Amino acid sequence: MTDQTWVAPPDDAEVVAGLGRSFADLFGGKPDGVWAAPGRVNLIGEHTDYNGGWCLPLALAHRTYAAVRHRGDGHLRVASRQMSGLGYDGPVPGVRPRDPGGWVAYLAGVVAILAERAGPDRCGVDVLVDGRVPLGAGLSSSAALSCSVAVALRDVVPGLADLGDAELVDVCVRAENAYAGAATGGMDQTVSVRAVDEHLLLLDARDGTVTPVAWTLPEHEVLVVDTRASHSLADGQYAARRATCEAAAAALGLSSLRELGPGNVQDPEVVARLVGVPHGRERVRHVVTENERVLDLVAALRERDARAVGALMTASHLSLRDDYEVSCHELDLAVDAALGAGAVGARMTGGGFGGSAIALVRRDSVDRVAVAVASAFAEAGLTAPHFLSAVPSRPAGRVR
Ligand code: ADP
Ligand code: MG
Repeated sequence: MTDQTWVAPPDDAEVVAGLGRSFADLFGGKPDGVWAAPGRVNLIGEHTDYNGGWCLPLALAHRTYAAVRHRGDGHLRVASRQMSGLGYDGPVPGVRPRDPGGWVAYLAGVVAILAERAGPDRCGVDVLVDGRVPLGAGLSSSAALSCSVAVALRDVVPGLADLGDAELVDVCVRAENAYAGAATGGMDQTVSVRAVDEHLLLLDARDGTVTPVAWTLPEHEVLVVDTRASHSLADGQYAARRATCEAAAAALGLSSLRELGPGNVQDPEVVARLVGVPHGRERVRHVVTENERVLDLVAALRERDARAVGALMTASHLSLRDDYEVSCHELDLAVDAALGAGAVGARMTGGGFGGSAIALVRRDSVDRVAVAVASAFAEAGLTAPHFLSAVPSRPAGRVR
């Protein structure tokens, strides 16, 4: 039998104590407090957020923690327990898009953008983060990082207390797009900041409204398989899918693909207009049918219909695999092995090309499904996957 590695949710007290020790070593003294923001899995509605569509993420209990101390001199120092040394040590106005680049940009970008509002002198901070969302696993450690820092600055920087949650989300999206150079939509930041404990969050990306959706299937849980196939190399592919959708919307004279209904995909005029957009028809078909699946899944949850929920998840996977072409061998294997071992439904989640898959599993068969997936990976000679339980959890906020 194959061993399985489970990534348990972090223990606040343990993380806070560790951050306190490292903060003292690195910066001297104590932080003003510790804030945390969750990663997420998206139950359904993939590659829809940047098309003004629907998605249904949940905040994980796995979070990124930020120990932050305000300083009055407009100087910024940042470090991460997952990285070595100081990532940045300089004035707030020295932070520019892509400079510093890499992981520091997610964090320093938030500070720079908030400094436009509060003034650079007021935004000086010492920041040390500890990320307990697996990095680069499609579980949104990047938004957990930026959002943990954003909620902290809102609390410690004079003049930011009246920033609303939706504005804070925009700040984090801008940081990721403009400073880190990742062309992501707003789903990750929205659920990290605006999640409701014990609920999924139905997000309408057209206007940013969110509706909490109760988890009505107490006998089932969402099992996350981190395939450990890194998805970071796929940045260009993500941007390419986004560009295709924008080109398709432009060819159709629409502000976004959200304006299309499922019936429109066969419409001869729509088909004709998409001829000039490479892969336009398949990509559009995914977006349009995926939007419909999100709303159908919300209805199925309301009816406590686990079978229907699972079937919609699996249909989403096939659409992402065949029409949107963002799956990969590891994701397909995780999905197939989970379904073969009795999962009610399964799909890739997140941007694709690696990262994580999720499966809707009866609680009494979680171990069986995990064993089956781990065995399939071992037989295929792949790196052993990691497993997490996705328990709908609380939004970003102060921990200590
Ligand atoms: P995901 O958001 O799915 O985890 P991304 O590629 O969007 O994947 O984001 C991962 C990147 O975010 C990492 O490569 C790193 O640059 C940054 N990051 C996330 N968490 C941390 C952390 N705790 N410390 C330093 N960098 C982090
Ligand atoms: Mg990310």
